[in-house]
Amino acid sequence: MKKSVVSLFLVLVLLLTAACAPAAAPGATEAPQEPAQEEAGAYKPGVYTASAKGNNGDVKVEVEVSANEIVSVKVLEHQETPTISDKAIADIPAAIVDVQGLGVETVSGATFTSKAILEAVAACMEQAGADVEALKRIGGDAAAQAEDQTLSADVIIIGAGGAGMAAAVQANQDGASVIVLEKQSSIGGNTILSGGAFNAVRDGSEEAIANKDSVQLHYEQTINGGDNQGDPELVRTLVENAYDGLDWLKALGMEFKEGVFTVTGGLWPRAHKPADPVGTGFFITYQRYVDEHENIDILLNTKAEQLIVDGNGKVTGVTATGETGNTITCNANKAVILATGGFSKNVEMRMEYDTIWGVLDESVPSTNHSGATGDGIYLAQEVGAELVQMGNIQLLPLGDPVTGSLSGNIELDVERRIFVNKNGERFVDEGGRRDAMTKALFEQEDGWMWIIVDSHCYPTGDEKNNFNESVNQLIAEGRAYKGETVAELAAAIGVPAENLQKSLDDFNAHAATKEKDEFGRTLYSDPIDKGPFYAAARVPTVHHCMGGVKINTNAQVINTNGEIIEGLYAAGEVTGGIHGANRLGGNALADILVFGRIAGRNAAAK
Ligand code: ADP
Repeated sequence: MKKSVVSLFLVLVLLLTAACAPAAAPGATEAPQEPAQEEAGAYKPGVYTASAKGNNGDVKVEVEVSANEIVSVKVLEHQETPTISDKAIADIPAAIVDVQGLGVETVSGATFTSKAILEAVAACMEQAGADVEALKRIGGDAAAQAEDQTLSADVIIIGAGGAGMAAAVQANQDGASVIVLEKQSSIGGNTILSGGAFNAVRDGSEEAIANKDSVQLHYEQTINGGDNQGDPELVRTLVENAYDGLDWLKALGMEFKEGVFTVTGGLWPRAHKPADPVGTGFFITYQRYVDEHENIDILLNTKAEQLIVDGNGKVTGVTATGETGNTITCNANKAVILATGGFSKNVEMRMEYDTIWGVLDESVPSTNHSGATGDGIYLAQEVGAELVQMGNIQLLPLGDPVTGSLSGNIELDVERRIFVNKNGERFVDEGGRRDAMTKALFEQEDGWMWIIVDSHCYPTGDEKNNFNESVNQLIAEGRAYKGETVAELAAAIGVPAENLQKSLDDFNAHAATKEKDEFGRTLYSDPIDKGPFYAAARVPTVHHCMGGVKINTNAQVINTNGEIIEGLYAAGEVTGGIHGANRLGGNALADILVFGRIAGRNAAAK
């Protein structure tokens, strides 16, 4: 089964590319070419474009969509190898229109080109408001529905994101056979799209001493940063086991950059940065482990529909829908682990539960992948699980104005960048909490801000951000702006030059003394005074669900009577009550790793 897992590298490249936004003009908030009036139907009519990486570079497609139909698919640009790619470029667009779906067969010998076209069309259909996962099930050999299957393993895991894969590897290391069910066509979930920052500190280490950091400070900042709503025992478990998790990843072969940094909303320099872009390093590592070991399999395009419960209330398995619509029954000899992530892409759920923002309708974009729809919440509720702090939803002030993605972000760390509004004025402590920054951003004109950095961050402009994008590349795509002087940059982004200059002068004065400024900022390193200067626009974006299924420190799921649900564990964003009202930047990857491993270990030991 595991050999059927699609090439991880291809998937990573496609994911990264699909997450990139189309060019955004200053002030633009809408995808271009959408009609003013929408007709009722499955799709928003319009002409959409998107790109995905093929064999030799970007494959750009244009998709025309009416209310209920994919009208045309055209490959606009590509650098694929002539002859080899010809058939894919001719046949895949035609097949998509023909079957009105994305489940068409790839062309043998041109798999990468085929997949790039399919991925780019999927990105267009997402812009058109389509249910892309449903479209992926339409087409191909629809008649050839596979037979229903019954499988068994010691541990069945739902979700192949960061928590699910950490649980899978740990359980397998502890001797259990493992099956992971993943509804998407690739592993990674949201974790692969994250900035990759991993908070962990070891008492007495060189870094801890240099930064005056400790496990206790990490604990206190996590508890205080979440307004004391986080469960103290769960937080203690998180901070005390994070560094072991880092060692475990390194032992599996994952590489991290030297040193630590302060991630946005992380409040302290304790984030470790993977050597590979965004969250890809985790999945390269996990996939390698899966490929090299027996009894650990991943079923892609397989959606868990229901938990199986025996007469004593114990969870004993999962029923799922397979790639061809067939039913797959997975029996767990030992336990089931829920690792389905959050619900940031489920607008209905975020509107129902949100207690912080009051505005989380479809007008607010999200950083998340399309599978973040809260399935695990429903699955757990059906077996009586308690839900905690569901209203605690985290937004970031760092969304791409068109897609909400974190791609296109030009900040490299907290200390050397400021935020200014459309009037060129600072408005918040840029080293503060994520909720405080985002709330302040909502109060600015159009909820719009510019991140401003200078050549201290980008000596050449070719340095890469977390998404493997250089600022030069973003400028070429119209997603970032450059000025040799402050006045030139101000003109490029349309803010008053004198205001931008004053904002920088005030900031630089405090960067020199390291004294707290009028917004309460205390995190500084270099001044921002060395041209060229750079800017990129950002808006609020829904990022993380801090509420979810209640667990104890063994990652066992707790029911509404306060009792353990036998046979059921949960880890990662599907769980609630760890981060409280506001999650510290860099704590999510630590959370999913620590509790994923605990769930995997305990499930295997059952
Ligand atoms: P976490 O950070 O908690 O690991 P992620 O978002 O990274 O969360 O991963 C969750 C994974 O679970 C995603 O890959 C998502 O597609 C998958 N998933 C969600 N619902 C289901 C489901 N019903 N069946 C199978 N996989 C699911």
